[in-house]
Amino acid sequence: MPSLILKPNREKSLLRRHPWVFSGAVARLDGNAGMGETVDVLSATGEFLAKAAYSPNSSIRARAWGWLDTPVDADFLRLKLETAINRRLKEPVPLKGTGSLRLVHAESDGIPGLIVDRYGDVLVMQILTAGAEYWKETLADLLIELTGIKDIYERSDVEVRKLEGLELRSGALRGNPPKQVEIIENGLKFKVDIAHGHKTGFYLDQRENRHLVGQLAKDRDVLNCFSYTGGFSIHAVAGGASSVVSIDSSGEALKLGAENAALNGQASGNHEWIDGDVFQELRKFRDSRRDFDLIILDPPKFAPTRSQVNKATRAYKDINLLAFKLLRPGGVLVTYSCSGGVDAPLFQKIVAGAALDAKVDAQIIRKLSQGADHPIALNFPEGAYLKGLVCRI
Ligand code: SAH
Repeated sequence: MPSLILKPNREKSLLRRHPWVFSGAVARLDGNAGMGETVDVLSATGEFLAKAAYSPNSSIRARAWGWLDTPVDADFLRLKLETAINRRLKEPVPLKGTGSLRLVHAESDGIPGLIVDRYGDVLVMQILTAGAEYWKETLADLLIELTGIKDIYERSDVEVRKLEGLELRSGALRGNPPKQVEIIENGLKFKVDIAHGHKTGFYLDQRENRHLVGQLAKDRDVLNCFSYTGGFSIHAVAGGASSVVSIDSSGEALKLGAENAALNGQASGNHEWIDGDVFQELRKFRDSRRDFDLIILDPPKFAPTRSQVNKATRAYKDINLLAFKLLRPGGVLVTYSCSGGVDAPLFQKIVAGAALDAKVDAQIIRKLSQGADHPIALNFPEGAYLKGLVCRI
């Protein structure tokens, strides 16, 4: 077995079961290992630390599969997948009975680089790392064996793969998956574009938060910014909202949003869909003195990494400030950041600064995170990417 030998005193994070080995911590590779092949990670003094997948092109040079000196093979991966899938099915609320959920959440489930989302009778796999890529066919076969689902679509068309030296790929991987499926979430129907939608097609991580927005929306005029295919909007109307305005810069997403509204029997008069840039549209509302009772801000990652934090901070501040200004007295702002580079304390600070500059007194009445099918492993705090605040003014 090839061995990755660390520099002296660089074993601490692996001993704390953090799965990443950065290139700067590596002294040398003993033996030969290709992309994604399994290596033993050893301390400078030769102590066994982990079995890991080798990523020769990435600054994350290896990702731990496990902490025991046992082989990484199909049986090993079966147990990992089985554990990930079964623990979700045992989750009583609200995952039981949900046909559409994340079955595997990469590092947070001990399977670095592998995302598996289930949309009814179709699985969508996303492979992000050399290690997961190396085992791709085995993983696909195991998923079929464990779930009984025959159709798998692959959405490995994300830029981060380039850091691993992997090509982007998208298409059918097993069976004959449809390009679009219909799912049920919190009793509502949604069309999901598996082939071309964002991520694997739908933002499953917001399921519980969309349910909450449905409960907050009764008799309110709602503004849903960065609406994508209308997840929050349709929950709001179903919850009794008087009206909902949805803004997104993707015409495709808005088109699907309107179809989703119709699919749920919602009168088109309740919905207004604006194809535009949120930063500009919020300013137009401010200038025309249009106001709302409930505003949702669910922007894309402004800071995927620490290096973009300053620019992202300004962007979050800008939209939150404008949103606070558009709220009627007693109104509620539901605001999110999914940026890895912006942690929860910083996000709260930004929102507090926005309230101050908007001259409103605001309280946090709930703190939100991603759904239970996107767990956060305590040894991998990077998994806590979605931060949400419900603020009342
Ligand atoms: N809330 C959605 C997910 C939002 S994802 C849900 O529950 O499904 C972020 C969305 O922001 C994407 O649909 C993207 O098209 C849109 N977007 C990104 N930048 C934008 C901008 N500047 N103005 C408007 N929409 C934008």
